[in-house]
Amino acid sequence: MALSSLLSLLKTTRVELYTLQGDATAAMSAGFVVTPRKVLALGAHPDDIELGCGGSLVKLNESGCQLHAAIFSRCSDETPDEPTLRAREFELAAREVGVKRPLLFDFPNRELPEHRHDMMHEMEKLQAMVEPDLVFIPFLEDPHQDHETVARAAARTFRRRETILQYEIIRYGSHSFTPSLFIDISATLDRKIAALSHYRSQFKRRAYFDEESFRSLARTRGAQSGYDYAEGFVVYKMFW
Ligand SMILES: [Zn+2]
Repeated sequence: MALSSLLSLLKTTRVELYTLQGDATAAMSAGFVVTPRKVLALGAHPDDIELGCGGSLVKLNESGCQLHAAIFSRCSDETPDEPTLRAREFELAAREVGVKRPLLFDFPNRELPEHRHDMMHEMEKLQAMVEPDLVFIPFLEDPHQDHETVARAAARTFRRRETILQYEIIRYGSHSFTPSLFIDISATLDRKIAALSHYRSQFKRRAYFDEESFRSLARTRGAQSGYDYAEGFVVYKMFW
């Protein structure tokens, strides 16, 4: 093949994958992208994962992927009268999206940067146990120090042939997130919202935590990508 043709093919493929004029599933079945089999979603707090990639997890689960999810703080300080409340909410929400055995570590809320080394040690154990081929992490530039710490620790830990996608957590200060990959969640948005509805402690407590926010963000990402509803991601690394 002439070099110009090869470059043209690569350019076309890249356009399909990254501007998403094409269908990601078609790209996968065409062999451009390795179809994930084992998926690991990492979050700092209960609700991070469902907010960021809940619809995609349901979709991956329905396509036969094995799902694993872990959070690093139980946020027991936020509900002192009921310290296990947020942990229980996470267990219900994670099961709702298809995670059979949600994992919870107990690092202190808002102090994750001071525990980065120990968190990486736990991530190494997860890497050995799960052997994921797709890892969802928070946005590396998320202004929340706990989200950023989980993201940076994961980017350093998962250095094998894992695809790493950064997800979006809607909250104040998260406006700099610009997605480069969109996953169609039109068929799974309702399950995502059902999962988020388990976080009873968060409704009314946080300005961004309501069904209208969840739907409008999904609709915005859908409008940007030609789907009815979508979740947006920033690719950290990907192999094809
Ligand atoms: Zn969080």
